[in-house]
Amino acid sequence: MKSTLTTEEKMMTPIDIFSDHHMHSTYSDGTDTIETMVKSAIKKGLHTIAITDHMPLPFKTRYAMDKQRLVAYRNEIDRVRQQYGHKLTILTGLEIEYIPQIATWIEDIVAMDWDVLIASVHSILVEGDHYMVNGNEQEFKKTLDHAFKGDIKALYQQYYQTIQQAAATQWFDIAGHLDVIKKHNGANPSFDETDSWHQTLIEQTLDLLKTHHLKMEINTSGLNHPAKAAYPSPWIIRSAVKRGIPIVMGSDSHSPETLGRYFDRINGLMENPE
Ligand SMILES: [Zn+2]
Ligand SMILES: [Zn+2]
Repeated sequence: MKSTLTTEEKMMTPIDIFSDHHMHSTYSDGTDTIETMVKSAIKKGLHTIAITDHMPLPFKTRYAMDKQRLVAYRNEIDRVRQQYGHKLTILTGLEIEYIPQIATWIEDIVAMDWDVLIASVHSILVEGDHYMVNGNEQEFKKTLDHAFKGDIKALYQQYYQTIQQAAATQWFDIAGHLDVIKKHNGANPSFDETDSWHQTLIEQTLDLLKTHHLKMEINTSGLNHPAKAAYPSPWIIRSAVKRGIPIVMGSDSHSPETLGRYFDRINGLMENPE
């Protein structure tokens, strides 16, 4: 895991730290309006942002947008763009929660035409039940114990297979928080992420991102999660860069003060802490 990037490799994949491609407003589970987020982005000197609220889901969750609000959401981004578009580029986006069983529902939303669609996997449907992979620790334990009978490898396999399926649809621009499933594998890791079964899963997933022309997000929100690391881990970022996968930054902000947070640590985010 000690591989480093050559100067040439770094130059092939320039990373824009003044663009934030991932944020939420009150249209889903953010605390502030789209306009407040935009004003904060301007203050912070960002030149491009994508508003990417959680897409509506066909069942109730604490975070997804209400389907009835989807048109108003797009209209509000248009309005704010008209007002502030001379100060920064505002992209109309959505964070898609890819669940293969609801692919037709997602396809209808994708067809509405967006500037930016993030492909994320937050949950897995097992026999009709919705199990979170990046919720709180209790939710993760429930997913592992109830839906996967404690088999961590099986859970990770299903998670990464779902991302691979999302990539293969070719509906998406960006793979969101690629290894967010590690969120609760921090303090008491149940396996080492450099174990070969895990590495193979990641490498296969990166190959598919490359094949289907997705960009990969460096999501800095993980630095404030139990994982204490950005998503994905440095070795995964380097592996993506070596493949020529374009990298974009995302703060996954749910409030204005965290926009662009830690983007200036980009070099550190690509190096192992040891
Ligand atoms: Zn997400
Ligand atoms: Zn998000």
